[in-house]
Amino acid sequence: MSTPHIVVAGGGYVGMYTALGLQRQLRKGEARVTVIEPRSAMTYQPFLPEAAAGSLEPRHVVVPLRRTLKGCHVVTARVGVIDHAARSIRVQPVEGDPYDLAYDELVVALGSVARTLPIPGLAQHGMGFKQIEEAIALRNHVLDRLDVAASVSDSRTRRRALTFVFVGGGYAGIEALAEIEDMIRFATRYYDSVSPEDLRFVLVEASDRILPEVGADMGRYTVARLRDRAIEVRLETRLESCVDRHVVLSDGEQFDADTIVWTAGVKANPILATSDLPLDDKGRVRASTDLRVEGLAGAWTAGDNSAVPDLTHPGEFCSPSAQHAVRQARVLAANVVRSLRGQPLEDYKHKHVGSVASLGLYKGVAQVYGVKLRGFPAWFMHRTYHMSRLPTFNKKVRVVLDWTLALFFRRDVVSLGSLQHARDDFDRANT
Ligand SMILES: Cc1cc2nc3c(=O)[nH]c(=O)nc-3n(C[C@H](O)[C@H](O)[C@H](O)COP(=O)(O)OP(=O)(O)OC[C@H]3O[C@@H](n4cnc5c(N)ncnc54)[C@H](O)[C@@H]3O)c2cc1C
Repeated sequence: MSTPHIVVAGGGYVGMYTALGLQRQLRKGEARVTVIEPRSAMTYQPFLPEAAAGSLEPRHVVVPLRRTLKGCHVVTARVGVIDHAARSIRVQPVEGDPYDLAYDELVVALGSVARTLPIPGLAQHGMGFKQIEEAIALRNHVLDRLDVAASVSDSRTRRRALTFVFVGGGYAGIEALAEIEDMIRFATRYYDSVSPEDLRFVLVEASDRILPEVGADMGRYTVARLRDRAIEVRLETRLESCVDRHVVLSDGEQFDADTIVWTAGVKANPILATSDLPLDDKGRVRASTDLRVEGLAGAWTAGDNSAVPDLTHPGEFCSPSAQHAVRQARVLAANVVRSLRGQPLEDYKHKHVGSVASLGLYKGVAQVYGVKLRGFPAWFMHRTYHMSRLPTFNKKVRVVLDWTLALFFRRDVVSLGSLQHARDDFDRANT
């Protein structure tokens, strides 16, 4: 009998931790593992806001897959159609022709994508905030806007450069907004013609609350703290249009803004719709409690792209969070190994312990095991919790060094937006 081939589709939280678990638990020759992921590294998303704000070096919040998964074969490619009936997956490498890869066991860990709406102008001018390149691009963009505002004479151009709109009040959006505002406010000290009062930050949230992850009280507290910082928090308001970066809100307000960040939720990876896997009405792969794909042999799933029953709240599904993703990956890896060995499988059960969110340097909000924290203690908990969760000792040390250096030296607030145009000078020299 040939060695079973396990294919892990996606190398994010679930993909990387599952592969790591398999690598640790499989005996030599028991199975071979292939991870298919278009990026060369796993992104530790909870640190993206700090990477965008320059508190952390972006390279320190990503974990290189090949270095971490030495016992696995890593393929830098996108997964296309999954034909589970034929035990075959379409692989689209970054360059070259697509090909089909045969497998015995499949782990579906393709995560989520931004949940966008057909809002005029959004596709052209909105920026996402889910990947490391988006965090770097946002940092460069907002610092670049400060340079523009400080150097133009036209007041309209200046006003739109200094107007920053964030749509979506979940933790990704609030942390991104709060960290960026903190950084820009700090950066204005180096500009003789831009002061903090010139900045306009607008948070647009369709529901009547923000940060549902930390509970209603802490959500209200966060709104109050953001408003203290002159951030306009517009609840029960929707973005209706942003054609040519002219923002129109559902409350009738209209203004121009060069920065429109969209963080209004996520949806399961749409590539799943092309597969023959069972999906629910939200496009998520249906999972059973032991993390097998419902009704199928040889297929497993977890994380944001799946509907995993929440055994602590019967009838509900686990929320899309890193907290669940990491724990599910551990159970999933162990269950794949158990199934190869003909042993009984374990069910996934974890009670969500709460959430912590950073609101900029030394500011935060948290609700963990029912305990509410605010201000410095919450911020400190955010840092220590995520540092402890960050994969690999190497990255932990680098992150701690970044934070330590930041205590002695002020934030680095230089825009490297010119990275987008790295060939421009050379091209000019050639003309
Ligand atoms: C800014 C931000 C802050 C967050 N903060 C927190 C927090 O504080 N606490 C918390 O619990 N959660 C947090 N989350 C949520 C958490 O990061 C996600 O729930 C978690 O990453 C889900 O893991 P996953 O493996 O399902 O998806 P991901 O980690 O997103 O992994 C999916 C992987 O699939 C890859 N992929 C996509 N398409 C394809 C394809 N076609 N072929 C192959 N691979 C593909 C992607 O490149 C990605 O690497 C945050 C998210 C964001 C964006």
